[in-house]
Amino acid sequence: MVLDWREIALDPGFLREPGSGASRLVVWRPVESPNGSPLWERIAGAPGEVIVLAGLASVSATLLRARQRSRGFVGRLIGRFDEARGKRTLVLPDGETVEQEGERITDCLLACVQDPAGQLDEERVRSQWPNARAYRRLGSGLFLVEGCLPRDSQATDPELPPVDGHPRRQAEQALIEARNRGDHAVEATAMADLGVILLNEGRPRDAVGLLEQALTMAGPLGDAARAGDIASNLALALLYVQQPGRARPLLEQEMARARTAGDLPAEKLVAERLGLVASATGDPRGALNWFERALALTRRVGDRHQEANLLWLQAIQLAELNQRDDAIARGQEAVTLFTTLGKPQAAAYGVYLQKYRMGLFDGPPLPAPTGPGDFLGGSLVAGAMAAVPAPAAAQAPSSPTQGTTGPGLLRMALSAARSAGQFAGSGFKTTPPELQRRRIETCASCEHHTAVRCKVCGCFTAAKSRLLHESCPLGKWPG
Ligand code: SF4
Repeated sequence: MVLDWREIALDPGFLREPGSGASRLVVWRPVESPNGSPLWERIAGAPGEVIVLAGLASVSATLLRARQRSRGFVGRLIGRFDEARGKRTLVLPDGETVEQEGERITDCLLACVQDPAGQLDEERVRSQWPNARAYRRLGSGLFLVEGCLPRDSQATDPELPPVDGHPRRQAEQALIEARNRGDHAVEATAMADLGVILLNEGRPRDAVGLLEQALTMAGPLGDAARAGDIASNLALALLYVQQPGRARPLLEQEMARARTAGDLPAEKLVAERLGLVASATGDPRGALNWFERALALTRRVGDRHQEANLLWLQAIQLAELNQRDDAIARGQEAVTLFTTLGKPQAAAYGVYLQKYRMGLFDGPPLPAPTGPGDFLGGSLVAGAMAAVPAPAAAQAPSSPTQGTTGPGLLRMALSAARSAGQFAGSGFKTTPPELQRRRIETCASCEHHTAVRCKVCGCFTAAKSRLLHESCPLGKWPG
């Protein structure tokens, strides 16, 4: 049986956790605190099917207590686990941050009547689970029963998994640890990492907010390279929200810094992003020039994946300038390089290039999947290009029935290739554990690593290192 938990009435004082939805009940309520600082309880039912016995539905549940600590934008973003201290920091539905107190109790269940409007009394619940530790009413038809599950059926809380190699949790943990140490430099970079992750998860406005905070924090630290990395990513996020005018000065400033410092990896990324700004403001020739400059830099650095990306971005600009033969030639160079590198995106680019060559049309590709685990980072360029409409003068003929042709088709290939790369992430060969471990160790000691992200290619190394066909842009990874 499946219940719609949204229909179950709760007594006053409970707050439903956002996102718990129809398939799962997660609620908070304040409880009396002996020392005055606010104390809360979180009751979380397991998602999925409920068991019905003698007319009562039940699902396993967990219970924990948490004490209110601080408020803030980052706190609203994340639920976190502080492994070092064995304490989780959680976020209440109203955005306040609380810290777990004591152990999570996992031998509970939620019991309710099947009819959402029905009534349930404690006597009936007791008769069903006579040996439980405690019975607590949560609503007219809902009880929490504590101490009623055998050990092997105790609930787990799938929303709060232990810290693993996922980039988001790595960044969250880096942020918490930096705050605990009072290390503002690492804190600013961890906030920037989280901002880039939000961008990948399709939340560009949140990403802009977080990256702005990170930049504000990094400013007074006197670390121009750190601030420049954050500014460059903020500029990319601003492209997603169609604010190229705000992105440009950030990138120009970072370009000046990178050139003065001889920071080629940063310079090549900034040149590519300035090309995206030019493209977004209807200047395909300017974009072409920036991409050419980025291409020269990326060849010097040796980042062949970005080289292939840039060739494709140039093909788009050439198509928008109606230089069709040049666009096809440049696009073919990109496809050949992606193929040589063994990149799963090669096939998608090849298909779109063939359609462009033949003057065919296509409907919009399936949206690129977003969410934790989907991304490597480099595909952010596709989102930045997709977020900004092509210049009107350069738009290819299309109609609602025909779909897209011309330069628009080549732009669409970016999204299609992003999807291909992400699907490949789950379907292509994964790296043997020992090799992945050595890749991660190499990144951990690399000066271009932020703790989770490679500043040379923009990828999240925990995700990237899992895929056998991926490589370090500087050739540092062991073979
Ligand atoms: S992939 Fe890792 S080792 Fe290679 S440049 Fe990036 S951070 Fe450094």
